[in-house]
Amino acid sequence: MNVFRFEKLLGFRDIAHGVSTKDVGTMKNEDSTVSQSGIKRFLKFLNLSEEAVCMKQVHGGDVAVVKDKIDFQISSVDGLITNIKNIPLLVFVADCLPILFYDPRKGVVGVGHAGRKGLQSGVIKNIIEKYKSEFGSSPEDIIVGIGPGIEKKCYKVDGELLDIREIANEQLLSEDIKNENIENMDICTKCNMDKFYSYRGGDKDDRFAAVISMI
Ligand SMILES: [Zn+2]
Repeated sequence: MNVFRFEKLLGFRDIAHGVSTKDVGTMKNEDSTVSQSGIKRFLKFLNLSEEAVCMKQVHGGDVAVVKDKIDFQISSVDGLITNIKNIPLLVFVADCLPILFYDPRKGVVGVGHAGRKGLQSGVIKNIIEKYKSEFGSSPEDIIVGIGPGIEKKCYKVDGELLDIREIANEQLLSEDIKNENIENMDICTKCNMDKFYSYRGGDKDDRFAAVISMI
C-alpha cells in the first residue's frame, strides 16, 4: 500500500502519521464513518487505533481540542489537536492542504485543513494559538508537515493564480514556526491524479486523508 510520510516526523517513536493515496481508497468527506473501508484500511496499515477523530470540515478557522474520544466526527472545525494517545486525528482533502503538527516537547499532535478560505479564516494561526493556550507549547518546538495540494499554476481563482502552499508557509513563519521545522510535500494533486484525489481535476466527492496520532 502506498502511503507517504514526512521525513521530519519519521524519527519520533511516540507518534505515527501518514498521507494516503488512491491506493488506500477514497475517504468520502460527507457521512464519514470509521467503518468506511478506506479509512479502516488506512488506520490498520499504520497500526493505528480505530478510535479516530475527524472533522466535519467547513473551510473555516475553528479548532477543537480533543480531550477524550466522544464522537468520530466533530462539527464545523478545520483543525484538531490532542495530547491523548491512540486517538488518531484525520483530515480529508482533495486540493486543499492537509497539515500535520507535532510538538515533541509537550507531546501534542494536530491536523489542519487549509484551503483558500480556511487560510483566510486563520486556521493555522488558531491551531498554533491552541497549542500555546492549551498546552503551553512554544512555536519554535512545533514541527509541521504540509501534504500534497493544488499548486499555483493549476489553481486559478477569479482570474488569478493562487499559491495556497506559499500562503500556508508564510502564515506558519509569522506564527514563529521555524523554517527548518516545516516540511512540504511539493506535490500537486491535480497533476498527480494517479496518486491523489483532486477536486478541480474532477473528483467531486472523493478525498484522500492525512493522519497523525500520539501512540
Ligand atoms: Zn498541477
